[in-house]
Amino acid sequence: MNKLAFSLVFLFVAAGCGGTQRAAKTTAANNAATAQDRPVTGIFSDGELKQFAALGPIDTHTHASVSDPAFYAMLKRLNLHIVDILVDDDSDPQQKNFSKLKEGVLNVVHSSDGYAVLCTTFDPFRFGQPDFASQAIQGINHDFAQGAIAVKIWKNFGMEIKDAKGNYVMPDNPALEPIFQDISARGKTLIAHLADPNTIWEAPTPSAPDYDYYSQHPKLYMYGKPNAPGKADILRARDRILARNPKLRVVGAHLGSMEVDFPGLADRLDKYPNFAVDMAARMEYVEMQPRASILAFITRYQDRLIYGTDNEFNPGQTGQDAVQDWETAYANDWRFLATDDTIPCPHCRNGSVKGLALPEPILRKLYHDNAVKWFPGVLGNSPAGAMKH
Ligand SMILES: [Zn+2]
Repeated sequence: MNKLAFSLVFLFVAAGCGGTQRAAKTTAANNAATAQDRPVTGIFSDGELKQFAALGPIDTHTHASVSDPAFYAMLKRLNLHIVDILVDDDSDPQQKNFSKLKEGVLNVVHSSDGYAVLCTTFDPFRFGQPDFASQAIQGINHDFAQGAIAVKIWKNFGMEIKDAKGNYVMPDNPALEPIFQDISARGKTLIAHLADPNTIWEAPTPSAPDYDYYSQHPKLYMYGKPNAPGKADILRARDRILARNPKLRVVGAHLGSMEVDFPGLADRLDKYPNFAVDMAARMEYVEMQPRASILAFITRYQDRLIYGTDNEFNPGQTGQDAVQDWETAYANDWRFLATDDTIPCPHCRNGSVKGLALPEPILRKLYHDNAVKWFPGVLGNSPAGAMKH
């Protein structure tokens, strides 16, 4: 499909609507014929697991900080490699103690037999210190030497960190530029979770997919905050980083926070060859899109979409519970992408959606090839990594 035709599909769907609600209606219509299908739920059947594992799946967006044999056994059973991402988040009581969190994540990476690799980060709360960038660079270079393959910049730039005058610090602030240049020079990848779903800037809507999150994280809920940058301002700042650093590979977490603006995302992917996005924690937004347009989007950008979940394994969870949650999420996503089964979709109009049954070559790109290309070293140096494909 040419670019104009592609854009028209989305214009037809998206014009004059909030995106999500309209998309849900259309999805409901699409699904009318299958409304009687009973959604397939739960962990993989043996047959499904075989097909999933054969893809050499890589989840490029996880947060695991608890070392547990049941968890490592799951990674092996699913033939699943993960990128374990460190985030310095002072809004989450679970993660307030950053050094403890980092110790936990490193323990997972070192105990995983090569199935987990580290995406490190730097301390955003040191912004404004004279040695902010040099300390950050020293820290990430140390982690690169220990095997880290990527660095995360998080949404607290644009949504939380302020300068001495009390203004929000945008992610393209010149003080951050030496950090981006270091990541680029060392051939590593920047994971950019910048901005958030549109609903974070809107009045509370209990039916929104993200409502639970922002009601629990008021610090990062932007609606009504004085002088807070708008979402478009933050995304423009992200785009300037992409333009200034053409050799820096940037993976935009969560569909680059453009979860209901697929034409906008298409424009960015066309404009910035150094930009790809992960699908973590936004699969439901994908599921809510009209079937024909999302199929066209995935087909066109099959080299720029990377599978990820945002699955977490934190203290307080048992290994058994984490394994159950993670595998259920993998099975659910896989059924949507790889099969034509009907699966649960709580925010879709009728509560379910029919799978896309993507062709195998596209699935292989989403689950494996694109991760290898955008995250060099993602399979690690272990025998487990070396034996893949
Ligand atoms: Zn995450």
